Amino acid sequence: MKTSSARLTGLGTTIFAEMTALAQRTGAINLGQGFPDTDGPDEILTYAADTVRGHGHHQYAPGIGIPELRRAIAEHQHRWYDLVVDPDTEVIVSTGATEAIAASLLGLLDPGDEIVVLEPYYDSYVAMIQMAGATRVPVTLRTPDFRVPLDALRAAITPRTTAILLNSPHNPTGAVLNRGELETIASVAVAHDLVVISDEVYEHLAFDEPHVPIATLPDMRERTITISSIGKSFSLTGWKVGWATGPAELLRSVMGVKQFLSYTSGAPLQPAAAAALGADDAYFEAFRDRLRGQRDLLCDGLRDIGFEVFTPQGTYFATTDVRSLGYTDGIDFCRRLPELAGVVAVPQEVFYDDREAGRPLVRWAFCKRPDVLAEALDRLSALT
Ligand code: GLN
Repeated sequence: MKTSSARLTGLGTTIFAEMTALAQRTGAINLGQGFPDTDGPDEILTYAADTVRGHGHHQYAPGIGIPELRRAIAEHQHRWYDLVVDPDTEVIVSTGATEAIAASLLGLLDPGDEIVVLEPYYDSYVAMIQMAGATRVPVTLRTPDFRVPLDALRAAITPRTTAILLNSPHNPTGAVLNRGELETIASVAVAHDLVVISDEVYEHLAFDEPHVPIATLPDMRERTITISSIGKSFSLTGWKVGWATGPAELLRSVMGVKQFLSYTSGAPLQPAAAAALGADDAYFEAFRDRLRGQRDLLCDGLRDIGFEVFTPQGTYFATTDVRSLGYTDGIDFCRRLPELAGVVAVPQEVFYDDREAGRPLVRWAFCKRPDVLAEALDRLSALT
């Protein structure tokens, strides 16, 4: 009996599920998987509860999402980035950013196509590029600052290149692409007539400089699919309400796939997601400030313990080099960490093709309450 497709070869179980299971099994503090331990704003939860209790949102929503949410997404893009998108043809609601990523890659790539991707990669990119039968071409972000090596990016383009897949703020490194990097990437995309798929789920978690969507750069709007979701910005990762915005022609391909993946997504949560996106500026500022404070708490604490820490400019995650504590291999370190210190973290090697570049790197999530971070740091001090 055949039990598996070749499309799954080498994909295994996601590291996030593996590390969360390890935390549950050992009772360790989970600084591995990126989910907050506080839920999103109460008024949004109440709004969702009222919608769920009421009638009118329990049957299939339109495949592209309810008009109210599509309008809220379009307004969000306009309010924050001055991007004008048509809510009827240039917005698609998806089951989390994950589905939008999957549908974009499956809708665009053919076997034999190459797609340039920043590594370390978010793991679903690798899986979906493989399932599309295409080839990923890595451009490696390296310590200490994880800047984009622009010459390597230019050199990665071949006649088979179809697209560039970006993620900024970047998981797992916490790098935020700067204007110079974005301009160079945009000029490469234009020169070679490439599509850019831009994963911006951490758009409201850029701590130093405002987040810049690549779609806002000249000539990029018409070749960029921008992806985000409600999960990170509102501490509602379990809702899995996401979206893609972009030119109608590209979104038709995304929808062409999405309609057969899920057809439609979480109808009862869509009205509340729309309400969340309308939150006032104070909400977004307070949220970013809170996460910045948690970043500083974790990074300072890890540094005091003796880790070399690469302070992230955005996201939920900080990266360390475990060689500073005498370990050489992040995977081995993370497997032993529950026993050594009662904490779980994520080895970054699994996000690289250039395994050497990632071997000593370990990712820690700081989207956890300050008392939990403090307790984790206290436990980790046992390492020295
Ligand atoms: N994005 C989260 C992380 O990077 C996890 C999401 C998932 O488990 N797939 O940790």
